[in-house]
Amino acid sequence: RYCGGLVSAMSNFSTDFLREMSEKDNKIKSLVDMGFPEDEANMAITRCGVDAALTVLADSVYASQAAGDCHYGNLSDYEVTGSCFDSLGGRKRARLMEGSKKKRKRYGGAAQGNRRPLDGSHEEPMPLPNPMVGFNLPNDRLRSVTRRLPQQAIGPPFFYYENVALAPKGVWATISRFLYDIEPEFVDSKHLCAAARKRGYIHNLPIENRFPLLPLPPKTIFEAFPHYKKWWPSWDPRRQLNCLQTSMSSAKLTERIQCALASSGNPPPKSVQKYVMDECRKWNLVWVGKNKVAHLEPDEVEYLLGFPRDHTRGVGKTERFKSLGNSFQVDTVAYHLSVLKDMYPNGVNVLSLFTGIGGGEVALHRLGIHMRTVVSVEIGEVNRRILRGWWDQTQTGTLIEIADVKSLTDDRIATFVRRFGGFDLVIGGSPCNNLAGSNRHHRDGLEGEQSALFYHYFRIVDAVKSAMGRM
Ligand code: SAH
Repeated sequence: RYCGGLVSAMSNFSTDFLREMSEKDNKIKSLVDMGFPEDEANMAITRCGVDAALTVLADSVYASQAAGDCHYGNLSDYEVTGSCFDSLGGRKRARLMEGSKKKRKRYGGAAQGNRRPLDGSHEEPMPLPNPMVGFNLPNDRLRSVTRRLPQQAIGPPFFYYENVALAPKGVWATISRFLYDIEPEFVDSKHLCAAARKRGYIHNLPIENRFPLLPLPPKTIFEAFPHYKKWWPSWDPRRQLNCLQTSMSSAKLTERIQCALASSGNPPPKSVQKYVMDECRKWNLVWVGKNKVAHLEPDEVEYLLGFPRDHTRGVGKTERFKSLGNSFQVDTVAYHLSVLKDMYPNGVNVLSLFTGIGGGEVALHRLGIHMRTVVSVEIGEVNRRILRGWWDQTQTGTLIEIADVKSLTDDRIATFVRRFGGFDLVIGGSPCNNLAGSNRHHRDGLEGEQSALFYHYFRIVDAVKSAMGRM
């Protein structure tokens, strides 16, 4: 059997060596950008290998900082997305930041675990809690923390902001400073479902008396997809999936893996196992036949993320993966939003920013919280079509759609506030393209073209607050 891909990949030693060296440099640089000391970054690469995903390496540094040794059971959390949008003009943004720096005192709260105090300077990375379980988890009240919100952060309106946990250094400190100095709640969704997803959430919701969506989602691959057990080799130790991404592996790769396995014994030699496992982890591949791996199908990703089946059906597969890869994990977000149910028995008015395929809306719906009005801001036409389709099929309230967050001016916000008597919830996660670890080329933090859209989130929350204050 011809295994061209594999043979050429393995024989090209010198090119590989050079690639590895520059890969190592790149990874060290990225880790240093995230705020890790260079020597610790270097050690993590030695421990985990140069091919390890950035998030694995970051985890490894954290683990060794916390425990004096390295453990890395769970892996990557990175997304790749394409298109570009304009951002706030540089001058205006600079002014905004200046103003806010003066206006807001820096937060130094330390409610979550054994976190180091944060002075808001750009020297310290925001330490991520380990384990990444947020303020509490369903059925695990023991670990629960209490928190006191800064005065100016107290709702209504309630707001909920999401982004990738592993952002370059200073990013979360800045986001927090803009959002009333609230401490982020970092959660890895692997504690709630079968796939990892490390995210930070800044919100002013109460954190007592949360409840999870029922039925509780499966937490392991085999509970979610029992039929994969049949071909799962004993040397594949994965019991959970990594972060579901915006792109999928190629057919070439699965073919290469099949070739590698077919031409080696059973069990295959350690080197082949390592090659196969690295690719399986990187791309979330599952075993569907003898020596045969495949990527997850869109409906499986929908299921893992807590969406109804066929939520994204009817648009191209690539688009489905992209939108799903960017979306909320519904069970995680619903757990946080559940406290709204008793507060708003007659339903809520929602301002939904960067709505995507409506993870927030699906969470509210599954919680049985009626949405009287949703003003949704989403630039992607395909995403808007998906949300509109779901809305028409499940909701009786009013959906108002706006394409670009930049066209939602403070005046328009004031008009909406008067018309609906205010918003109860402002929810959204701004694009993370310039924050996520996989974007080697434009990982320029919050000032990145897309990530700067965060400042609109903050501007809009502020505008809603002041419009409601005038009511
Ligand atoms: N939380 C959402 C996904 C957020 S991803 C969910 O559950 O699906 C960020 C979204 O912001 C993407 O869908 C992207 O299309 C959208 N977006 C990017 N630039 C935008 C802009 N200028 N105005 C409005 N939406 C934008």
